[in-house]
Amino acid sequence: MKLRFRLLLPLLVVTLIPLIPLRAAPLPPNPRGQVMILVYHNFGKDARWGRSFPSFDSDLARLDAAGFRPITLRQYITGDFTLPAGTTPVVLTFDDGSAFQVKFTPEGELAPDCALAHWVDFAKTHPEFPPHGTFFINPGTGPFKQREFLQKKLDLLLKLGSEIGNHTYTHPYLNRIPAATIEKEIGLGQYYINQWLPGYDVVSFALPFGISPLPADAHLTVEGSWSGTVGRKAVEVKWHYPAVVLVGSGPAPSPYMAGLNGARLPRIQVFTPEFDKWMKYFELHPTRRFISDGERHAPGSQPNPEGARR
Ligand SMILES: [Zn+2]
Repeated sequence: MKLRFRLLLPLLVVTLIPLIPLRAAPLPPNPRGQVMILVYHNFGKDARWGRSFPSFDSDLARLDAAGFRPITLRQYITGDFTLPAGTTPVVLTFDDGSAFQVKFTPEGELAPDCALAHWVDFAKTHPEFPPHGTFFINPGTGPFKQREFLQKKLDLLLKLGSEIGNHTYTHPYLNRIPAATIEKEIGLGQYYINQWLPGYDVVSFALPFGISPLPADAHLTVEGSWSGTVGRKAVEVKWHYPAVVLVGSGPAPSPYMAGLNGARLPRIQVFTPEFDKWMKYFELHPTRRFISDGERHAPGSQPNPEGARR
């Protein structure tokens, strides 16, 4: 009997192989896994700080096919997201309000040659990958150019489910300026976002060049206030940013991890070798990836035995 089984076993294996589906089994939930916070800058051609539209289209398709689903940084930091079981959140962020992130036609419609239009188009056939991104703007440098359409662009981004974050007023090196100037830079950025989007609660801040202020002033990027004048008007602005992002390094911890340091969240810069590297990393190490169980959980709900790193 034993011998007969041994003879039959290889035959059984050979017969069953074609029946194994090519699609990998859904990954088991992993609420402690890592999350990619991606960052894009310019659009038009592939470069260290730029992405061509064909490459951006391919990024969206690859992420979607690999089971990634977009959430905003606000959703990441508040835990306010529910994704289908087996999928992984990914945050797409866009820095500096560069012209080809959000472009309008002279008639005031979304122009086809911009990142937002490519994403909106992709979502028409892939509704599971909606244009929910986080756009970090510098109000003092003309966000997305085309000043006449700025209000319409910001309104459209929010209507689509995207988020606006502060990136300072003029993008200075925060480690080279005194505390009072840091407050003015963050405060003026926040002031103009408040003017353009009354009542909108800004929760995300991107460090210009990914550089923090000197340690004594680092708290200002999370919480602070500025009093000054805009034109002849005396203004006072307060801010609280639970999510502060760096420029580039690697994936971020699970948003559910206890002790998560929201004041220094790492991002992954999207350019060709770097994006490929991290897509491959999660292919090779699927157990390191955050996998939803289909439920919503609270930030901090996952114990972190390694302590509050980062
Ligand atoms: Zn920037």
